[in-house]
Amino acid sequence: MNSDFDVIVIGGGAAGFFAAINIKSQAPDAKVLILEKTGKLLTKVLVSGGGRCNVTHNAASQSALSKAYPRGKSFLKKAFNQFWVPDLMEWFEKRGVTLKIEDDGRMFPNTNQSETIANCFLKEAQGKQVQINTRETVERIAPMNGPFLITTSKTEYVADQVVMASGGHSKLGHLDYVSPLNLSLQKPYPSLFTFNLPGHSIRELKGLSVLDAKVFIPVIKESWQGPLLITHWGMSGPAVLVLSSICAKQLGELNYSFEYSVDWLPDVPREELVLNKSKKQIQNHKPDAIPQRLWMYLLDEARVAHTKKADELSKSEKNKLVELIKNHLFQAEGKTTFKEEFVTCGGIDLDEIDVKTMQSKQHPGFYFAGEVMDIDAITGGFNFQAAWTTAYIAAKNIALRLNEKA
Ligand SMILES: Cc1cc2nc3c(=O)[nH]c(=O)nc-3n(C[C@H](O)[C@H](O)[C@H](O)COP(=O)(O)OP(=O)(O)OC[C@H]3O[C@@H](n4cnc5c(N)ncnc54)[C@H](O)[C@@H]3O)c2cc1C
Repeated sequence: MNSDFDVIVIGGGAAGFFAAINIKSQAPDAKVLILEKTGKLLTKVLVSGGGRCNVTHNAASQSALSKAYPRGKSFLKKAFNQFWVPDLMEWFEKRGVTLKIEDDGRMFPNTNQSETIANCFLKEAQGKQVQINTRETVERIAPMNGPFLITTSKTEYVADQVVMASGGHSKLGHLDYVSPLNLSLQKPYPSLFTFNLPGHSIRELKGLSVLDAKVFIPVIKESWQGPLLITHWGMSGPAVLVLSSICAKQLGELNYSFEYSVDWLPDVPREELVLNKSKKQIQNHKPDAIPQRLWMYLLDEARVAHTKKADELSKSEKNKLVELIKNHLFQAEGKTTFKEEFVTCGGIDLDEIDVKTMQSKQHPGFYFAGEVMDIDAITGGFNFQAAWTTAYIAAKNIALRLNEKA
């Protein structure tokens, strides 16, 4: 049995590295070990943001930032008091990494390369003598009346403080290794996905994007307004992705079979949609915000001849067109993973965790960081920010305990 380490961090991902480095920054003599089950470190950091690593998001306030988290909103609002976007910028700046803000608020390293972030962490961990064991899976953690017994695929360790940063997973079995701790768990569901429309003719418009549409799921009574993209398998774009995140659990329970509607002109009320007061052919009389290809498609769906004069539309043709513009119904069957960024909701129930320290309420000395908790966000750098914030708080408190003991 190995009792050489003060702190054992489970997971060599974003949260695990950020926790280990920050423990060593504040308690340099601490002996810290990261255990990573795969042969690779910081895998998601490297692939994130299309290889550019969208590290965080520029937000006006901590409260505005917390609104991006369908799970964890009020928990993180309190956590951001301790570490948020300006603190992260300063943290990287001190280590020679400058972050830039894009027009939509997403923040990336100036180099546009995720390696910049991964290399910064690897250099810091090495310089601070964090020990890292790869290909060593944590199989069981049991409380020992104070310290914890950690059984891995290779050996056993005893440590006073443990950081659980093993990330999200679509199956609860991923967390079986902590079952002796009796933690309450939330069922996981994937978040951030696009809606499939198998066999639907709208897919012929693949590649077409609409700047502002409102997507509404009646059975859940949730909607989101924003850009929408038609793809060869269905619909994507921010309006769909954000809604998939907000409704991740409910859509999982519906097995991704649900009806939704699209309002192609969300800011124009029905009564202001005057389609038949023109001598122009209806194909040349489209509302400005509707792309021409979509307009032709809507005319076909409403069975209106493209060359018909607008003022000759019958009442039922006009009503059918208005209905399609304002309440176009679709039946989603299945989902497709969004390749740029995806996460799972569910994991460790937030009621288990003291937000001030990220420590288990049941097991002092046991901490949580990152996606392993029931926290997830919409796309845009928010998921990493949750990992940095929670890892930083855990590290601060671990270092405090170590320094008190010394
Ligand atoms: C393709 C993709 C792109 C993304 N892009 C972005 C982005 O640009 N911006 C953003 O904010 N978010 C992004 N995300 C989400 C973000 O990557 C995650 O939210 C974040 O990585 C979570 O960090 P984590 O450390 O909690 O978990 P992870 O990064 O998943 O790390 C957990 C680590 O623990 C290890 N592990 C698990 N179980 C054990 C065990 N029993 N023993 C030992 N080790 C174990 C795993 O192998 C893994 O290395 C993206 C996600 C994906 C999949």
